[in-house]
Amino acid sequence: MTAGLAGLPIRDELRGHTPYGAPQLQVSVRLNTNENAYSLPDEVVAAMERALAATLRDLNRYPEREAVALRAGLAAYLGHGLDASRVWAANGSNEVQQQLLQAFGGPGRTALGFTPAYSMHPLISTATGTGWIDGRRSADFGLTVSDVVAQVREHRPDVVFLCSPNNPTGTSLPLDVVSAVLDEAPGMVVVDEAYAEFRRPGTPSALELLPGHQRLVVTRTMSKAFALAGVRLGYLAADPAVVEAVQLVRLPYHLSALTQAAASAALAHADVLLDTVEAVKHQRDRIVATLRDYGLTVADSDANFVLFGQFRDQKAVWQALLTRDVLVRDVGLPGWLRVSAGTPAETDVFLAAMKELV
Ligand SMILES: *Cc1c(COP(=O)(O)O)cnc(C)c1O
Repeated sequence: MTAGLAGLPIRDELRGHTPYGAPQLQVSVRLNTNENAYSLPDEVVAAMERALAATLRDLNRYPEREAVALRAGLAAYLGHGLDASRVWAANGSNEVQQQLLQAFGGPGRTALGFTPAYSMHPLISTATGTGWIDGRRSADFGLTVSDVVAQVREHRPDVVFLCSPNNPTGTSLPLDVVSAVLDEAPGMVVVDEAYAEFRRPGTPSALELLPGHQRLVVTRTMSKAFALAGVRLGYLAADPAVVEAVQLVRLPYHLSALTQAAASAALAHADVLLDTVEAVKHQRDRIVATLRDYGLTVADSDANFVLFGQFRDQKAVWQALLTRDVLVRDVGLPGWLRVSAGTPAETDVFLAAMKELV
């Protein structure tokens, strides 16, 4: 915090904080933010260009406030009998989660998550005045029914965050853990499924639990598998009453006409866009197997990244990789680093660098 900022009457809980953000360094192999490594196929670029061009002349008007057409497209993509009334979209799933906390958290209320998990959950909680409770996981990063039930019972949080597949560990949650939280929690249960498309076959989605569970929310994003991190489009699926609740706190016209047009056009080509998912999963499995061959400890992953260790000094390994022009993520977990699965060529460079380092 600069002297200037410290002199302002900023909220006490923000004092001393630094803005969130992974380093955006210029390196040739960038494997630190779990983006899809593949740029958009020409066919999708052309469709998005046409859709964007068609909106330009009408940008004097505010956008469609409730983004119904886009929400219907997202519901159709998800399946599970969902429709626009059960889906809500915003500028990234980060904004969706902020709206959920504005509606269901806030001053005097608490949110519980199970660390290590997505670092934005505590940050968005703090920013919305929601008290954050740092729940525990076992040493192998697993989360069992008895772990979660005991902690939910102890804290009675207004919001519980689960993350499956979990960032940064890559592990997904069995549905009985989600069900147990739903049975025990007095408030909302948010399952962050940002990496759902990368799950291994047979891994369930919490979407299956939506019928009959009014307090369950599943959040998804187009930032990862859909290769659209630059568009900023996240969404949720839940009971229609949850959608009504977030509509009470969302800013009017929060989703620009450009965002809606780009996302709808991309969704219409979901099959082409998601073609890269299998290639990414293949590189992920290759990273897991190869790093294990090198004698490292590697978490099983249902996502497009891999958590690996254990290092006496993960910062030194991070730096040594950077020297070799490879950027991975130090998620602040002593002994561990996280690497995104990139293209085969990027994975080659990363694995060759690791071979030198172990
Ligand atoms: C990357 C990520 C997101 C995506 O956030 P957007 O705002 O949709 O880009 C959400 N949750 C988790 C766990 C993530 O890792």
